[in-house]
Amino acid sequence: MAKPISGKKLFNGVRDKDCIVMAANTRYIPGAAEGILKAAKDTNTPVIMEIARSECDLKGGYTGYTPAEYAKRMVKAADKVGWDKWVLHADHISVTDGSPETIQGTKDLVAAQIDAGFTSYAIDASHIFNFEGKNEKEELEGNIKATIEIAEYITEKMEEGGIGSYGLEVEVGEVGRKDDKGFMLTTAKQATTFISELNKAGIKPDTLAIANGSTHGNIYDERGVKIEQVSIDIPRTKEIAQALRNMGSPVRVAQHGITGTPLHLIATQFPKGDVIKGNVGTFWQDIVFEVLKVYEIDLYDRIQEWVLKTYAGKGKSDEEIFGKNSKYAFKQFFREIHAMREETIAAIEAQAYASALMFYKAFGSKGKGGLI
Ligand SMILES: [Zn+2]
Repeated sequence: MAKPISGKKLFNGVRDKDCIVMAANTRYIPGAAEGILKAAKDTNTPVIMEIARSECDLKGGYTGYTPAEYAKRMVKAADKVGWDKWVLHADHISVTDGSPETIQGTKDLVAAQIDAGFTSYAIDASHIFNFEGKNEKEELEGNIKATIEIAEYITEKMEEGGIGSYGLEVEVGEVGRKDDKGFMLTTAKQATTFISELNKAGIKPDTLAIANGSTHGNIYDERGVKIEQVSIDIPRTKEIAQALRNMGSPVRVAQHGITGTPLHLIATQFPKGDVIKGNVGTFWQDIVFEVLKVYEIDLYDRIQEWVLKTYAGKGKSDEEIFGKNSKYAFKQFFREIHAMREETIAAIEAQAYASALMFYKAFGSKGKGGLI
């Protein structure tokens, strides 16, 4: 079986090797995951397959997958392709507050993810932020406390299961958050304070997700027309990575929300090595819908009708309503989407394959499987 490897093993291999490993979140697996994994195998490229708490939880999230179901299908895809340099990552394990109920619910989810065989975890307590804090430590106190509690729980559960290592991502600064002046970016001082407080508690993350000007998902202008994302603050990102290096930390940046960023810009401007994990999510979902539009016209029409009706007003154009809310169709149409014709799945796979080759090249991770 092509079981996933430990995230720590992967990050230790690629750190400071001038590359970003793609973390693909396909939301829907058949065809999409196979294409990405096959392109990885054919080019000897390490890759991360991930899914977030909102998308996949004990109740099925908005994709309809539970952690066990998601892991089973993803391992099957990797097995079919025959690629084993991949990591199964639990993205955005969101901890929205520090209440005992939230912490317990998070532990229940994490326990299920460990049972399902996930090999890397992203604890995201970035929402817990004290805007009244007089310094970084005060601002981040709640985030630090919740992150430590969940990280200790993961370690304990892993040890119980006899699993020695796993990948760990933590988050400081909420991705995409804006105030009246624009994006609220993570500062270098916040990043170093956060990591050193975690280290003091014995928590050793591999990557740090920061708010650096990206937004999750597709973005649109004021008329509802889809636009490219060119807002990632590269100098700030480099500054944070350098501050982490200066404190002797092995932690590097995980870039969230890459969908919509021109590949040429990634290839030429992205600070590879400072950023070592690059999340690409909505992009893959958009490929699935583009293929459905041609190969499963009836199903696509029904999905579009449902999205536009259910999310009416949640966007300035039909294009924006669909682009921002079609992700919820995966659960609503779970049975139909998972019963697509073979030729449709083959087309999705081919499109995913071609796009994955472009990302691997732009990220500098193409052919770097030997590092793992
Ligand atoms: Zn994210």
